[in-house]
Amino acid sequence: MNSRPLRVTVVGAGPAGIFTAAALTDQDAVPVEVHVLDRLPTPFGLVRHGVAPDHTAIRDLRKSLQRVLERDAVRFTGNVEVGSDISLAELQASTHAVVLTYGAARDRSLGIPGEQLPGSIPATDLVSWYCGHPGTDPSAVEALLSGATSAVVVGVGNVALDVVRILAKGPGELESTDMPQHVLQALAGSRLRDIHLVGRRSPARATFTTKELRELGELPGVGVRVDPRDLELDPVEAAAAEANKVAGRNLAILREWSERPRTETARTVHLHFWSRPREVLGTDRVSGLVLERTAPDGEGGVALTGEDRTIPAQLLIRSVGYRSVPLAGLPFDAGAHVVPNHRGRVVDDGVPLAGHYVAGWLKRGPSGVIGTNKMDALETVGAVLEDVPQLLGREVGHDLAQQLAERGLVTTDMRAWRRIDDHEVGLGASRGRLRTTVHDWEELLSIAGGRPDALP
Ligand code: NAP
Repeated sequence: MNSRPLRVTVVGAGPAGIFTAAALTDQDAVPVEVHVLDRLPTPFGLVRHGVAPDHTAIRDLRKSLQRVLERDAVRFTGNVEVGSDISLAELQASTHAVVLTYGAARDRSLGIPGEQLPGSIPATDLVSWYCGHPGTDPSAVEALLSGATSAVVVGVGNVALDVVRILAKGPGELESTDMPQHVLQALAGSRLRDIHLVGRRSPARATFTTKELRELGELPGVGVRVDPRDLELDPVEAAAAEANKVAGRNLAILREWSERPRTETARTVHLHFWSRPREVLGTDRVSGLVLERTAPDGEGGVALTGEDRTIPAQLLIRSVGYRSVPLAGLPFDAGAHVVPNHRGRVVDDGVPLAGHYVAGWLKRGPSGVIGTNKMDALETVGAVLEDVPQLLGREVGHDLAQQLAERGLVTTDMRAWRRIDDHEVGLGASRGRLRTTVHDWEELLSIAGGRPDALP
């Protein structure tokens, strides 16, 4: 057994990064010191800034993630951006191994005319806003929302369902979340009446899951509408639905909705399938979305029919997937938007890049649920542990924390997080809520630093 600890830096304090820290410190064959960095002042990544605020059970995962960051062999430093505050090469010089887990922060585009018009936003912007991500400008989203009576959400994955559900819910149902107060107020004042969800293929190919779909049909004061014509399947699509249990259950729910009698409701969610976005309409802002009807091509894909229709809308939310961004010094597959790797070892032209590893969405693309990252991190940590003899053979420089301090950076740690945590709980209590998320970056740093003006 080695007595010299293996120093590992993990870039990203989201689920993938924290599961990596957990797997490294769950084993005792190799002594380790793990330093987890994040560009935000707060840890937990998508569990804080991606999981829908009304999915409280999943958000509660942060309690177990926090316990990992509080382990003796683990250290957290927030408000450090790798690539600008410190380079990957500098990290490599001070640590035996770097595991990159910074996820997929950007959106994919639709590639259609009008996509960049004001009023057309990626789901990442809306999700960041309602989760209180400190990198977003709340006023931009709130201005768009306040002027909209009809919204279209493109994409039929779980993020699209989150967005539709949050927009459809009334203020009474959102009070129990930890959303920032300004988000709660903006949603309470929303005049949205119609919310459209658009899938370009068969309902059997939607990527959302059944529990999340079912929730939409159970919202008080919200009607759900599906055109029965959208649920007609050719033999290939019927076989696809038969072969995939989730698709089969989803179709059963959609069929039940398509048969519900139409009643007057405060809000209506309209689900459309076989509808490919063709053009965003509008001159100075979005006024509608043109959809072209698709049809099964008999091989599991779709063919265009030339049949167009327009959904009037003042807000367009593009929920068509996330993508990772490259980092200087790290190989990147610009087509797949991931870092090329073999079981977590970063590879450059097929050759492993010593000391560099990846986990999470940066490694495999934006798929799976939070728990998927656990197995994913285990695989990467397995690779790190196999490489220990070579990794420890390299001399590493002085302490990373000291280097960051010498640069005069304002950073946060777990003590700072506990101050923010207490503050948010206090802020919530003062309004009869369990917690209210603080979204302002400077305010977070001020609370983290224990400044008295930041007390609730
Ligand atoms: P996703 O499941 O990959 O969904 C992306 C959607 O965008 C698909 O319906 C896709 O349709 C559509 N799309 C892509 N390009 C398009 C285009 N040009 N035009 C029209 N539609 C297009 O991704 P996601 O919803 O962003 O979710 C990311 C991951 O997080 C998923 O694994 C998801 O399950 C997970 N997640 C889970 C939860 C939960 O468990 N509650 C909540 C949120 C997210 P095609 O299939 O036709 O390409």
